[in-house]
Amino acid sequence: MDGLIDPRFRLFRRYYKLIIPVIMTNIDILWAPWRMAYITENKDSAAEKTAVAVGPHADPKCFLCQAVFDDANDRTRFVIRRTEWTLSVLNRFPYNNGHILVAPRNHCGNLSGLTETEKIELIREIDRWTEILTQHMSPDGFNIGLNLGHAAGAGLPGHLHWHIVPRWNGDTNYMATIGSTHVIPQSLEALWTILTGK
Ligand SMILES: [Zn+2]
Repeated sequence: MDGLIDPRFRLFRRYYKLIIPVIMTNIDILWAPWRMAYITENKDSAAEKTAVAVGPHADPKCFLCQAVFDDANDRTRFVIRRTEWTLSVLNRFPYNNGHILVAPRNHCGNLSGLTETEKIELIREIDRWTEILTQHMSPDGFNIGLNLGHAAGAGLPGHLHWHIVPRWNGDTNYMATIGSTHVIPQSLEALWTILTGK
């Protein structure tokens, strides 16, 4: 049988156990163990728990739409700023400390669905948060990006949102020492207070 196999594959099959660990050691892994709660949580029941009456073009199951229409609960929904066309929230399941989401207020999943005013205001907000996070947290850099569609990793493909993730030199190497899920909501609340000044 082995005679039918491409010799390059035979070589790979023989040595892949040596090659793959070498490849793996060159991948930086950002530890965010609290994201396990996001991966394992039942999205439908979580959406029902926080449900609120939303407008005609909004999605009642969308946490961003819920936050847009529930302006009395910014602290518990981690809303840090509202503008005429945008909403900024802390990511409840952050990749790193200070992980912010900036979204249009309208439930819209395509860039082409945004108005010029919304586009300008979204970029202004992203700029504003990178400035504020720099002042408060002194990161060495940022990952700022948009996951467009399920295939690109969007957890909420129907409602555009830009991720702002502060990065520090060496942050891919630390081992999180958080032993209790209780610690994360507290730190998010502390960050909410700092960023909103409330
Ligand atoms: Zn929405």
